[in-house]
Amino acid sequence: MNKETKTIYDAVLREAPEEEPARQYYFMERVRELVELKKSEGYTAAAMVNVIGCQMSAKDGEKLQGILERCGYRSSTDADDSDIILFTTCTVRENANQKLYGRIGRLKHQAERREGMILGITGCMMQEKDEVETIQKKYPYVKLIFGTHNIYKLAELLYSTLMREKRTVEIIEDTKLIVEDLPSERRYRFKGAVNISYGCNNFCTYCIVPYVRGREKSRSAADILRECERLVQDGAKEITLLGQNVNSYGKDLNGGYSFPELLRMVAGLPGLRRIRFMTPNPKDFSDELIEVIRQHENICRHIHLPMQSGSSDVLKRMNRHYTKESYLELARKIRTKLPDVTLTTDIIVGFPGESDADFQDTIDVVREAGFDSAFTFLYSRRTGTPAASWEAVPEPVMKERFERLLSAVRESAAEREGKDEGRIMEVLVEEKNAERQGMLTGRLSNNILVHFEGPDELVGEMARVKLERSMGFYYIGCLAGACDCPQT
Ligand code: SAH
Ligand code: SF4
Repeated sequence: MNKETKTIYDAVLREAPEEEPARQYYFMERVRELVELKKSEGYTAAAMVNVIGCQMSAKDGEKLQGILERCGYRSSTDADDSDIILFTTCTVRENANQKLYGRIGRLKHQAERREGMILGITGCMMQEKDEVETIQKKYPYVKLIFGTHNIYKLAELLYSTLMREKRTVEIIEDTKLIVEDLPSERRYRFKGAVNISYGCNNFCTYCIVPYVRGREKSRSAADILRECERLVQDGAKEITLLGQNVNSYGKDLNGGYSFPELLRMVAGLPGLRRIRFMTPNPKDFSDELIEVIRQHENICRHIHLPMQSGSSDVLKRMNRHYTKESYLELARKIRTKLPDVTLTTDIIVGFPGESDADFQDTIDVVREAGFDSAFTFLYSRRTGTPAASWEAVPEPVMKERFERLLSAVRESAAEREGKDEGRIMEVLVEEKNAERQGMLTGRLSNNILVHFEGPDELVGEMARVKLERSMGFYYIGCLAGACDCPQT
């Protein structure tokens, strides 16, 4: 930094407001001024945000995008043409880390060659010391590193990187602070996600999330409702409420609302056509929650209920606080009270100490619960978690079990597929079908995909579609009233 730049930089820091989010808006303005200046020298101010991981990570990506736009950057989808490339990362399984290294490895040439380019990484993986060290040592061209607790500070960190022309690294261990009212740029106009809580207190013994996302912090119901209302005013028809364990929402707020109460209030917002939520934990799934879902048609008929294992012994060692029997009982209750829901799950294969009998329990529950689909994962050892030091299941055993589980899941799903064939149902049209011209793709309330012929203007709208043919995990349909198939 030359003397003149340093004087400006010091003055900007001195004058920055202390309180949030005013401080960040101040830095967004300062970055914008810099960007305008650079533009006169041919800077194209293109920024690309890449998401690796879950919906929480995608939501972080929208926040980064919103801040960047406010800083004067235009959104780009072409890495070769970008002045800033940011990654939000995932570290829940080792392969997510490998994905990040692959992606940044491929950007080396560009990051070194393009004048003033900033390659930045944030998200869960950056809360792991070893990974940050590796990036600092082996990837000198990564110029910005920050974690999950200071994503809101992007403008401030970016300003510092641009002015100092040096790498910025800022990782915070944990925080109680929730900064509200920052910009966010949705990927889809017609749907959005809203964080209801951050972090997790459950400490399942295989899971790294509590270590990288910190302790559970619920947002106030007023802030959540305000964000939902704004989304609806801005055209959102569907909102997904996000939390690591949505149904423990509010337990950390003194006298706050519970999740069923919050859900009821969100469902009552005028104009909101669909509400989804991710992820409920079976241990806290109350009758009241089932009842709220039953009473509100706009709460989607899809429940993702991660089971992880069907063995009570494994569940105990996973610290999940439910048993094979209580899980099955809950699944039955949901199926009885909400007969039109699709029930999906997450299952981990090869948790340390999983015996053949334990695994057989998992297969039994898959058959009995009758999942509509399941995400199946090979256990991945995460440093720092209790299970990391327990004796691993040999890899060939794990892989063989994984194949058996896939077959069981496929069989169970096949039994339920096509049950709505012939019905006319509401679809939220999400996009033009990339492979077939004139075709659109939408989603039913129960999360199942439907492809059908229709005009492009329907994207983002609700449409009534006849589900003509089941193709397994999706339907081929036609717009109700718009074709000559017999409509029922
Ligand atoms: N909070 C959510 C899940 C977050 S992680 C919940 O409790 O349901 C998403 C999924 O990744 C988990 O449900 C689990 O199935 C899987 N997962 C988490 N840690 C894992 C690990 N170490 N190895 C394999 N799968 C894991
Ligand atoms: Fe991880 Fe368990 Fe928390 Fe889900 S509930 S994020 S699996 S610790």
